[in-house]
Amino acid sequence: MQSFYEATVVRPERARLSGKRAANVCIVGGGLAGLSTALGLVERGVRDVVVLEAQQVGFGASGRNGGFVFGGYSLDCADLLRILGQARARELYALTTDAVDLMRRRIKRYRIACDATDAGVILANWFNQPERLETQRRLMKDGFGVDWEPVPASTLAGQLKTRRYYGGLFERNAFHFHPLKYVLGIADAATAAGAQIYEHSPVTRLQRQGGGFIVETAEGSIEARQVVMAGGGYVRNVYPKVERAVLPIATYVMATEPLGPRLKDALDTAAAVYDTRFAFDYYRPLPDTRILWGGRISVRNREPQAIARLLRRDLLKVYPQLRDVRIEHAWGGLMSYARHKMPQIGQSADGVWYAVGFGGHGMAPTTVSGELLAAAIAGERPVPEAFATFGLTPAFGALGLTAAQLTYTAMQTRDALAARRRQRP
Ligand SMILES: Cc1cc2nc3c(=O)[nH]c(=O)nc-3n(C[C@H](O)[C@H](O)[C@H](O)COP(=O)(O)OP(=O)(O)OC[C@H]3O[C@@H](n4cnc5c(N)ncnc54)[C@H](O)[C@@H]3O)c2cc1C
Repeated sequence: MQSFYEATVVRPERARLSGKRAANVCIVGGGLAGLSTALGLVERGVRDVVVLEAQQVGFGASGRNGGFVFGGYSLDCADLLRILGQARARELYALTTDAVDLMRRRIKRYRIACDATDAGVILANWFNQPERLETQRRLMKDGFGVDWEPVPASTLAGQLKTRRYYGGLFERNAFHFHPLKYVLGIADAATAAGAQIYEHSPVTRLQRQGGGFIVETAEGSIEARQVVMAGGGYVRNVYPKVERAVLPIATYVMATEPLGPRLKDALDTAAAVYDTRFAFDYYRPLPDTRILWGGRISVRNREPQAIARLLRRDLLKVYPQLRDVRIEHAWGGLMSYARHKMPQIGQSADGVWYAVGFGGHGMAPTTVSGELLAAAIAGERPVPEAFATFGLTPAFGALGLTAAQLTYTAMQTRDALAARRRQRP
């Protein structure tokens, strides 16, 4: 069962690195973090930019995700505010809403046909507790100056044909898209402006040499003045300082068969939807009337059939009317999580730039990191100081993964109990 996204793109042939060559900047990883940096650099007139991708562009999370593009980070907005205080939290949040706008502009400017649907995102309340929505609405308004509009339960029931939800909030400045088409479009734009992208070229070794670095693959090497590590949750044994600071966590997605007019029996909205649980469902209608449905967090990478079974159960909890619908695609992907749940963007003491740890909320933040690193490398301005708060803290490998799975299970249980308590008459 191939991913819906892979099944619906045509990929150009790209060379693999062979022999020795020199570059100004060498980027490890052809996900959105690496490619946004490459595009940001060439847009600023930086020459000799090379991207090395182990598989193919968008092979990782960037080409497998839910396709939600909205403001914020994996770290909860309330925690961002608590940790940074209002001024610095606002500064970092605003970078992500600027990135949403930049992505819209790039889609137009580079004519990226990526099925972008500018219809906002609904946060649906799983719990019969209106105060949950009101607290969130106030936090966004007072803390970040952003309006998330209340959606009364009766209005929501007209858009989402389910009895599961108790009203919602609507984030208007958000869209959803085919992430792999977007990533391929960004790669094409970077290439057209002079960047070189090599595929099937996994980096095996990174070493300091003189004032720069040697980046090695099985068949070639790059002598680079600057290096950017952007390998997400997939990179291993290249630069331990970064790899030890993130945990690879899996999450799953599936796509139904095209539903035709039946789509409206479940979703009568073009908006994307997620809910208020810690372990929330996220889903959206696709242009060809399928539903793309995602959820779950796990330290295990499951087979597509197992993923389809799990997610189908989740779908039917919300939309039992889709019982006989076929699941045509199911897949998983690895996110990279820091313990503090914020992206790690900066430069280590030995001069290596990095952009990792975007977690499950990475489309806008990887675009942020691309702009910040490109501006810093081009000598325009340093990475904002607030990111130093979220450094390369150790994630504790296997121990960290066990802790993450336990937290997930505990939060799932807490949400299930809270939902049950509130449903009792
Ligand atoms: C299933 C799923 C659903 C998600 N849904 C959403 C969503 O709806 N909205 C949202 O905002 N975010 C979502 N996310 C999160 C988002 O996709 C990620 O945060 C983001 O794509 C991370 O981008 P990245 O470039 O850091 O990593 P990746 O996209 O994983 O890219 C890393 C790349 O590095 C390459 N690489 C690894 N090792 C090497 C090496 N040695 N040499 C060369 N290359 C190497 C890999 O092959 C890979 O292509 C989701 C993630 C997943 C997995």
